[in-house]
Amino acid sequence: MKIYGDLEKRIREIGRGLYGLAGDVPSIFNKRRWMGRLMDHAMKDAEFRLNLFRYIDVLPSLKTSDLIVGLLQEYFSGLPGAPLIIRKGIDRISRGFMPVVASKMIKAGVRSIAGQFIAGEDHHDAIKVLGTLWEDGFAGSIDFLGEEVLSDKEAGQYMLRYLQLMETLAPVAAKWNHDALLENDDKGQLPRFEISFKVTSLHSQLDPVNWDGSIASAKESIRPIVATARSTKASLCFDMEQYYCKDLVIETFKQVMEEFGDYPYAGIAIQAYLKESRTDLLGLIAWARKKKRRVSVRLVKGAYHDYETVYNMQKGWPLPVFENKEDTDNNFEVLTRILIENAEFVRPVIATHNIRSISHAIALGEVSNLPNNALEFQMLHGMGEPLRRQLKKMGYRIRVYLPVGDLLPGMAYLVRRLLENTSNVSFLRGFFAENRSYDEIINPPEPKPHRTWEKLPVEFRNEPPLDFSRAENREKMREALQSEREAFGKRYPIHIDGKDIFREKEIVSLNPADLEEIVGRVSSTDRNDAEQAAAAAVKAWDSWRSTAPEDRADFLFRTAAEFRKRRFELAALEVYEVGKTWKDADGDIVEAIDYLEFYGREMIRLGRPVNLGHYPGESNSYFYEPRGICLVISPWNFPLAISTGMVAAALVSGNCVIFKPSGFSPVTGRRLVDAFKDAGLPNGVLQYLPGPGQEVGEYLVTHKAVDLIAFTGSKDVGLRLIKLAAETSEGRRNIKKVIAEMGGKNAIIIDETAELDETVKGVLESALEFQGQKCSACSRVITVGDIHDEFLGRLRSAIESLRAGLPEDPATLIGPVIDNSALKKIQNFIEVGKKEASLFFSREVDGKGFFAGPVIFVGVNPSSALAQEEIFGPVIAVIRAQDIDEAIEIANNSQYALTGGIFSRNPLNINKACQRFAVGNLYINRKITGALVGRQPFGGSGMSGVGSKAGGPDYLLQFMNPRCIAENMMRRGFAPIS
Ligand code: NAD
Repeated sequence: MKIYGDLEKRIREIGRGLYGLAGDVPSIFNKRRWMGRLMDHAMKDAEFRLNLFRYIDVLPSLKTSDLIVGLLQEYFSGLPGAPLIIRKGIDRISRGFMPVVASKMIKAGVRSIAGQFIAGEDHHDAIKVLGTLWEDGFAGSIDFLGEEVLSDKEAGQYMLRYLQLMETLAPVAAKWNHDALLENDDKGQLPRFEISFKVTSLHSQLDPVNWDGSIASAKESIRPIVATARSTKASLCFDMEQYYCKDLVIETFKQVMEEFGDYPYAGIAIQAYLKESRTDLLGLIAWARKKKRRVSVRLVKGAYHDYETVYNMQKGWPLPVFENKEDTDNNFEVLTRILIENAEFVRPVIATHNIRSISHAIALGEVSNLPNNALEFQMLHGMGEPLRRQLKKMGYRIRVYLPVGDLLPGMAYLVRRLLENTSNVSFLRGFFAENRSYDEIINPPEPKPHRTWEKLPVEFRNEPPLDFSRAENREKMREALQSEREAFGKRYPIHIDGKDIFREKEIVSLNPADLEEIVGRVSSTDRNDAEQAAAAAVKAWDSWRSTAPEDRADFLFRTAAEFRKRRFELAALEVYEVGKTWKDADGDIVEAIDYLEFYGREMIRLGRPVNLGHYPGESNSYFYEPRGICLVISPWNFPLAISTGMVAAALVSGNCVIFKPSGFSPVTGRRLVDAFKDAGLPNGVLQYLPGPGQEVGEYLVTHKAVDLIAFTGSKDVGLRLIKLAAETSEGRRNIKKVIAEMGGKNAIIIDETAELDETVKGVLESALEFQGQKCSACSRVITVGDIHDEFLGRLRSAIESLRAGLPEDPATLIGPVIDNSALKKIQNFIEVGKKEASLFFSREVDGKGFFAGPVIFVGVNPSSALAQEEIFGPVIAVIRAQDIDEAIEIANNSQYALTGGIFSRNPLNINKACQRFAVGNLYINRKITGALVGRQPFGGSGMSGVGSKAGGPDYLLQFMNPRCIAENMMRRGFAPIS
């Protein structure tokens, strides 16, 4: 343990010297310039800030001047707080100022903002900027911008840009003047330039769920970069981005560096805002110590704070970042100390503009007797210029981080930078724009007590999906896949009146990805069993209906707990039984748990009678009663979630249930019943009746004991059941209620302002996840204006990069379809499509199961079969529209009305879609699948369904009859007055 003496005193002295620079305001904050005024306004007015950034974000993709000025008006004309400079501009435009001229001025203005932060557009610019910096006594690190890499092609281009840069730069850099400070650290010579790259941009399918595969693919792209860095004498840094990929990046870094044991100039970024950063840093140091090498560690605060907060809160995962800036600042100091104490194995690179953090690092370096050149400071291009000059004077090596790239992909970066500058906590804002006092700036950061929002809610919260970036979850999933495989071929009984019964006739459940594998053999029922099941349900109903709603809800909560206990096994089973990928399978289990938790709470709410009208002398009690016996008929595509949703809703509202699963997922169906059984559900309340739909299903639909049918499946079957249920035979005492959720022909509209990275990803996931076999899947894409070709080009390369194979392999994104008839149907539609439209893309996928590769048709007639029929497979029909009105008209030209989406950054178009795009679930700028219980209640109208939305506040009402009891409280003139 070292004694640091009066460190605080020294920090203050150093800080005082740096603080003296406050007068030198960087241009972005200089209020004498128009940009400074805009930034100043943005800092004060949150709504203006949001619109300003949104406008800047969309601007580079706007191809016509009409759009540029049109959107300017959209974003700002209704904004009372917009600054004069913008209001004047809008005023001039509306008075006839030429849009062409106006749009040129706007673009030039934003380019000038971008130029503050982005060092150049290509490697030629980069080389020039680096040369100039070197002359001024600063080193540089080049980062090629580009946010989302969607295909191997794009990843390959990203890699090549680095190789080209290093090859071209090396001979130029060799001619730069000697600079002892920049070219040496405490242990020897340093390269003259550095590159920074994002591992996620080097492999389009990088995902920790596919841990080994992702690392192997990333390494293939990183090896040439490191080899070139070695031969051209460059240093390099692995940048760090989303927390979700953090462990993967660190592991990739270590593995690559072990291959390049003779390359001493590698580095990696560590983000101090991450709670795990201390453990990560210590791990890296231990690794470097063991390998007897020294690596650079660039200590940053982290640039994705808002993203991490929102993303992880949406998922229900613990927050990986500190919530308070003070905590991050404090942790930065803790990590700085660790770096300095271990400088033998790590080169400390302090990347911040914060005077306190910098002064702390310097003071700590001094008391630790660390030579000045052992420390490196890094700052962003366009920020903190006065500071870096001062630090250079003090004898420290400064490296400027230089983002290079087109404005278009660079814009996301720029927007982040701008956000960072104007957010409440940014140091630069406080320092330069608000002139915070020296004491405020130099005081040591004080960690704050943590808010633990995760623990608070007792109200419904969605079950968090598994985080496959965690090694333990991947391991448990692998074990579960193994144990489910060991159970292949097992026999499963039916369940009537609390008894498990085996029958001779069986449904053989096959693995659709490998037909040689029998997942299970499930006893199949006949009408006799149906009769017994109905009798058992009737017998149990009396007692079940009088069970208190809270107690019925409790069975749901206990079943949810059972699902949680076996969530890996259930997910693994779905991987085999219906061909879901790991994440999709887990998503289904999570949704099943959500239904149980949500409907349980809903029933507690609805179970309390309410008194209507408050008049003296009368009482009007309004409450709900169960309908009776509910037949649940479910599909295979969400084999646990949809079945659980319907069964749970029926049960909790007091009905007894006969559950008929799909013949393609009877083993999963059986597991559902097992969980309810283990939760202690009384005998006879839930029967499990797998069997042929036409026989058992139809028989029960018309059965006199059945009061209610909850069906989810195809339109044809649904309509038939509605018709059968409507026939009232002799002796029937009620009209059967049918809740039917059916198919879709869902469309996504893409206009010319759409953000293409998000759009391509969103369409890809919506259309092709689970091979397009989600009822909400996108099967029509409607493009507006001239985005069509660029969108399709990127979509094609993205699809080409998807790995096809067995769903049990976590690398797989394209698996099988459910059975042979589904495959034949898809193939038939492809033949029809070839006649009706132009085949733009198709991809063959082989395997021992029912594999159908993705297909895209273009020039599709909106009224053709391809655009009208539900195919339920990976077939995308692309249709062109002149404008948004036509796009909405095409989208609505369908008998279905389930889900739909729009990708747009044009508020007017988004508004139109909200008003006129007639679907049950409309999604804006996100994928159209993956509705969450309680957050996006799900269900459509038209031929997509008759029923209130699943997972919504009205759903349970369908399973009950409302009653009202009015009592005259007046007896001979006396009445209670309340
Ligand atoms: P499907 O209609 O073929 O089968 C659904 C269920 O009905 C199965 O259990 C099946 O055995 C049973 N069945 C079939 N014929 C029957 C009959 N004559 N009488 C009684 N029962 C019968 O549908 P599927 O292939 O399992 O599922 C895919 C379909 O479901 C797609 O059309 C999809 O869009 C739709 N779906 C809709 C939603 C939604 O919420 N709207 C959700 C999931 C699936």
